[in-house]
Amino acid sequence: MQNVSTALADMTAKHPCYSCTAQHSFARMHIPVAPDCNISCNYCNRKFDCVNESRPGVTSEVLTPGMACDKFLQVKKAIPNLSVVGIAGPGDALANWKAVKESVTAIKKKSPDIIFCLSTNGLLLPHYAPEIIDLGFKHVTVTVNCLNPAIGANIYHHISYQGKVYYREQAAEQLIKNQLEGIKYLAGKGVLVKVNIVMIKNLNGSHIMEVVKKVKRLGAVMTNIMPLIPAPGSAFQHLPQTSMKELNTLRDICQVDIKQMRHCQQCRADAIGLLADDQSYRFRNGKVCKYL
Ligand code: SF4
Ligand code: SF4
Repeated sequence: MQNVSTALADMTAKHPCYSCTAQHSFARMHIPVAPDCNISCNYCNRKFDCVNESRPGVTSEVLTPGMACDKFLQVKKAIPNLSVVGIAGPGDALANWKAVKESVTAIKKKSPDIIFCLSTNGLLLPHYAPEIIDLGFKHVTVTVNCLNPAIGANIYHHISYQGKVYYREQAAEQLIKNQLEGIKYLAGKGVLVKVNIVMIKNLNGSHIMEVVKKVKRLGAVMTNIMPLIPAPGSAFQHLPQTSMKELNTLRDICQVDIKQMRHCQQCRADAIGLLADDQSYRFRNGKVCKYL
């Protein structure tokens, strides 16, 4: 891990995703304020509002910044060991930057010590990285599934970028360029960057080691290699789910290069509580997602 200040190390010790031991004692809350996305991953389907389903992109509600702040206050009162507020969709945090910024600003006023964490596909990182830093984020996750646009062409259907839509290989090329540039910038400014990688066995399985080495060189502190969840309704719904055996073998190999996250729960976009004990059902207001 890069040299970090004592204050950042203390903060990270309370982050249940960055610290394996913190997962048992500290809770996180995802605020689902980011419904839109600017890319289309073939494994994604967010058009579900299932209270029993737990995977990234699923939420029972989308909140305005004001609602997110009110909900935060309720949760903080009910779960005193809440240490992290994260933005993990259901779309992309940076494609909804105004809402993210307003939510973080409002919550920070109420609770200056809370840790903020953000997940993104990285397309807009070159644009927003300075603002991310100014807003006080010290923990950012970027999902990087490949370095090679030819591989990316099979993972990403398209991206919308600066008013234009790009498809397949061209889309992947721009996305990868921005992801890598953003990681380097954030890491260079002392942000602890975690890189998520979705292992899709026959598409990027044998390429992931290369991804891990590259993001390590750019300054990432940890990678989180996750299994493909063949989400119903997604283009990859018929692909097999990555097995834990394959996943752990790859993590063991990559551990030599960089710290591996092995306790990720692939949480909902409105998850609340300890990682292994989602309490989000206690805090729903029953609103229908407006993007469905
Ligand atoms: Fe879905 Fe996330 Fe990919 Fe956007 S970046 S398409 S929300 S998986
Ligand atoms: Fe942490 Fe993984 Fe859940 Fe994100 S999806 S909050 S990294 S456990």
